[in-house]
Amino acid sequence: PACLYIVATPIGNLSDMTPHAIDILKQVAIIACEDTRTSGKLLSHFGINTKGNKDEDTEEVTAYNNKNDAENDSDSAAKQKGHNKLWAYHEHNSAIQTPKIIEMIQQGHSVALISDAGTPLISDPGYQLVQAAHAAGVRVSPIIGASAAIAALSVAGLPSDRFSFIGFLPAKTHGRQKQLTTLNARTETLIFYEAPHRIIASLEDMASIFGAEREVTFCRELTKTFETVHKSTLGDLVEFVKADDNQQRGEIVVVVAGVNVAQDDDDISIHDTLLQRLLEDL
Ligand code: SAM
Repeated sequence: PACLYIVATPIGNLSDMTPHAIDILKQVAIIACEDTRTSGKLLSHFGINTKGNKDEDTEEVTAYNNKNDAENDSDSAAKQKGHNKLWAYHEHNSAIQTPKIIEMIQQGHSVALISDAGTPLISDPGYQLVQAAHAAGVRVSPIIGASAAIAALSVAGLPSDRFSFIGFLPAKTHGRQKQLTTLNARTETLIFYEAPHRIIASLEDMASIFGAEREVTFCRELTKTFETVHKSTLGDLVEFVKADDNQQRGEIVVVVAGVNVAQDDDDISIHDTLLQRLLEDL
């Protein structure tokens, strides 16, 4: 039966594209992607035909596309360039696209979801679609590959037995500081995504809220030419990034150690004695 495939694509180095991903993307009737231009380039690099004319599903899919053209601007923009196998699926049209994609699958056409890079749904669109697929009894299958979060954790040299993926912090200072404050007491390793234009502000907030001595690994441009993996403390990292403009560019994952429980044992015993005295007073 037809299936919804969630397909990972490389996070930088194109050699990380898997043969399985290429196979599936060639087979499916529709490839739903965030940006038809970005994905169009990736797919043509791997010889994956997005014009649909080699695909057994072409006729029906094209008819379906034409029927829906008026309702879907970005989709028809892609088709004007002849990419009728590529459907735009992003934050702003997911409510409209989700039922259309589910309907396609129910009619027997498999669909693949990809994002601009890495694994869909990881700080990327797709949750609504996967949720709807389950609700409709449509099979969902992962075609696995890279995710920047796991790549960063694997080289961070920080405890990896327990970790939380936090993703992007709020863009505004107040919201960011508030969220960091709620994360301060967490004992597991924390994984953050950050945009280059906010990296210094975020690292400064982390250093002041988590403490300048907290361990951190800065992972930038993973799998690409100018890859950085730099392990230090938050205090030192702020200086490292400030001192080199190049470190303020590109794609960044920040992996922060959880609060050191052993170090805080003193605090805990102080609290315990305090509590004991208070209890005695009662
Ligand atoms: N779905 C993607 C994944 O599986 O990693 C993440 C998409 S999210 C919109 C983009 C963010 O992921 C970037 O801002 C950066 O924080 C991180 N990222 C993506 N590629 C990266 C790379 N090659 N090196 C470091 N971080 C990367």
